[in-house]
Amino acid sequence: MSESYDVVVVGGGVVGMSTAYYLNQAGARVLIVDRARYTEAASTGNAGMIVPSHIVPLSAPGVIAKGLKWLMNPESPLYIKPSAKPAFMKWLWLFQKHCTIEHVNYSIPILRDLSLLSRDLFSEICRTPGFEQVGLAHDGLLMIHRTAYAEKDNLELADLAEGTGLEIQRLDREATLQLEPHLRSELTGSVYFKQDSSIHPELFMKAMEAHLVASGVVFEDAEVKSFTVGSSQVQSVNTATKKVKTNHVVLAAGTWTPALASKLGASIAVQPAKGYSITVPVEKPSLRIPCILTDDKVTMTPMPGCIRFGGTLALSGLDDSVDERRASPIRRQAEVYCDGVDAVKTWAGFRPASPDGLPFIGSIPKLSNALVATGHGMMGVTLGPVTGKLVSQLIASDATEVPIDPFKIDRH
Ligand SMILES: Cc1cc2nc3c(=O)[nH]c(=O)nc-3n(C[C@H](O)[C@H](O)[C@H](O)COP(=O)(O)OP(=O)(O)OC[C@H]3O[C@@H](n4cnc5c(N)ncnc54)[C@H](O)[C@@H]3O)c2cc1C
Repeated sequence: MSESYDVVVVGGGVVGMSTAYYLNQAGARVLIVDRARYTEAASTGNAGMIVPSHIVPLSAPGVIAKGLKWLMNPESPLYIKPSAKPAFMKWLWLFQKHCTIEHVNYSIPILRDLSLLSRDLFSEICRTPGFEQVGLAHDGLLMIHRTAYAEKDNLELADLAEGTGLEIQRLDREATLQLEPHLRSELTGSVYFKQDSSIHPELFMKAMEAHLVASGVVFEDAEVKSFTVGSSQVQSVNTATKKVKTNHVVLAAGTWTPALASKLGASIAVQPAKGYSITVPVEKPSLRIPCILTDDKVTMTPMPGCIRFGGTLALSGLDDSVDERRASPIRRQAEVYCDGVDAVKTWAGFRPASPDGLPFIGSIPKLSNALVATGHGMMGVTLGPVTGKLVSQLIASDATEVPIDPFKIDRH
């Protein structure tokens, strides 16, 4: 007898796992198919920040100009590799179209509601036995500046955040150091986003995997190669060795989702946005509060047993090589706080970036049982739980917790 499931989730990163979590809670029989058990996924080596503070999408006024200015700087935090590939050209065209103040104002309440809801879901999930050690911490986030230029950016964000009801504090140098006495980076002040949180991503993924297995979710370590499609439905999800029958399929394969969606006739504008991190083991992190150094665009996250430093955003296709020149600002900060940084390898991962900074969550047009959940860019960890919950509500035809239209996959 061939295998059959209520839902097959393709991709076991934070989005796929969270989707399986809520589907399983709703009583569905779920299979996750992942070709590498999330080891190649962005969902492991990321900065682990849960960021209601990130209300401004990447596609904001001035980003293209900054990208062009930084093009010639080998250490710049943003890099766009010129490419004539049609999918990239289309993405870039859509991206620049959304770099407007109108789009920023449109996105702010959407991202705020989504991430605040997701942060609450993290708390709820982490109350489940088995999630005690995943390092969920509600210590807020410090956005730190040392130049007038970064201070202006931080204070503008603070105004927007305050205007949309987020709890923030503008701090001078002394107040910043009083709140986080272990800071050794150069600084003149900061903005403190009180509602941000953090997690140890690998520990969360491992706890989630163990919880799902114990709850009856099945994992298949294989690559999805194709789908069998009837008149308006996906009938099976196919690997090299199996055809798995299913009532629903969810494509949650991160940056690789467009290739799968195209097999179902859908075009998803997602580009890989490569980032790096350096994780230095420490007995107890000296820092307590996660920080972003706005001048250098470097993140610093204290996690159980380590401090993780991260950064860079390179739109350079699916090239996972590490350019150590671009990683050097991250490495320099790591050396300020930790010994033994030389021995640590730089990790690279792909953020699945949408051109308007909002995720794609919704059905594939013309198919009644196929959905997409991707495009979370810099906020995939933050938005993992809420995305999973929304997908499970869409499949159950329940009312969704937040309006789903802004995330429709054919919105562009
Ligand atoms: C340096 C860096 C720092 C970051 N920091 C943060 C942060 O602090 N906070 C935050 O919210 N976000 C952060 N992000 C973004 C976040 O990591 C991603 O948005 C998120 O992990 C994406 O999750 P995902 O499940 O969509 O995709 P992924 O984690 O990439 O998972 C996709 C999975 O699909 C599988 N797959 C692909 N194709 C197939 C196929 N054909 N068959 C079977 N399996 C397949 C892959 O093996 C993979 O396991 C960061 C990212 C980077 C790179």
